[in-house]
Amino acid sequence: MEWGMGKTEIKDIGEFGLIQRIRKTYSKFSDLVLCGIGDDAASLQFPAEHSILVTTDTLIEDVHFTRKGTIPYFLGVKSLAVNLSDIAAMGGIPRFFLLSLGIPKGLSLSFVDRFFQGVSQLAETHDVLLVGGDITAAPKLIINGVVMGHCLPDQVIYRKGARTGDHIFVTGPLGDSALGLEILRRRGLRPRDFSVRGEARGKDGELLGLMRHHLAPTPQVLKGRKIAELACATAMIDISDGLLADLGHIMEESQVGARVWVDQVPRSHAFEKWARLYHPRSMDLALAGGEDYELLFTAPREALADALSRPENVDLSIHLIGQVTPDPGKLSLLTKDQKPYSLSHLGYDHFRGFTRRTS
Ligand code: ADP
Ligand code: MG
Repeated sequence: MEWGMGKTEIKDIGEFGLIQRIRKTYSKFSDLVLCGIGDDAASLQFPAEHSILVTTDTLIEDVHFTRKGTIPYFLGVKSLAVNLSDIAAMGGIPRFFLLSLGIPKGLSLSFVDRFFQGVSQLAETHDVLLVGGDITAAPKLIINGVVMGHCLPDQVIYRKGARTGDHIFVTGPLGDSALGLEILRRRGLRPRDFSVRGEARGKDGELLGLMRHHLAPTPQVLKGRKIAELACATAMIDISDGLLADLGHIMEESQVGARVWVDQVPRSHAFEKWARLYHPRSMDLALAGGEDYELLFTAPREALADALSRPENVDLSIHLIGQVTPDPGKLSLLTKDQKPYSLSHLGYDHFRGFTRRTS
């Protein structure tokens, strides 16, 4: 900033200036990138013998998020997280990403800077490199991410491999994100809840944690890799639409049915404490609420138990929640005493609608 000139804004530096700014701050050196930001296309090095995995996901203002309902840092985290999660769900190693922005008039440069701080924090955690993107004017904020990764071909885990008799597992607690969204809807996001770098402030620690879970999810990349290395999972998916909807995707691609023991679906401590206050049928949030980004997979139980007993795998926490059954498309939900569990209307709508939430 210069004296008397006011704050620098996007219109002052233009598209080219913004690209230079991103390039200078966030483009990292690596042997794997022969050419990154700055040419017409990136030129990248992948390990020989590996399959390339590539995925894309888009977040649109007022469809998937509102600017008032989040902070730029979390939006940056989420933009990359949803894409990393798709690579994790295949068992892959994410490596490179491109990030394209549609920028509405008047969006501040500090918004873009904080957004990129969120992106790069997650990128550094997972050692993924920004290698390109695009910038255009748009009526709303639009964010498109592309992530490229790789995996040995025989380690890639598809949705289509589940077999009758396999058991069904998830990697962590479900429902926190849906509960966080419910809290955001009722309580709203307050200006002092989080610092610009996303640290929770104030005394509502647990509620802020749940909100954060929704606004800045954690992709389970390490767990996905671990599961691929166990070499016994038959199908896998990340839980973005909700446990039942995503299990539905595995059932459809694998042409099988499923039985889920609802009481065995793991929930967090904070969820158990707060969910009843925010939802009349809190279990439905864990079953049908989306965007937890844990992994859901199927595997023969004995083979998995064997693999998990190896010393290098003891720290991988996995929860058994059900079983694959022969009837294509048939899903049964059972309580502890083997009685059928029926989803409330709301949960059922979420399950049917395969909705992507807005925050
Ligand atoms: P072209 O007109 O050839 O598409 P651009 O001016 O759009 O080129 O982009 C120039 C370079 O800047 C490219 O390497 C592109 O990948 C990179 N780039 C553009 N926008 C972004 C962004 N949002 N993030 C990272 N790199 C970007
Ligand atoms: Mg371009």
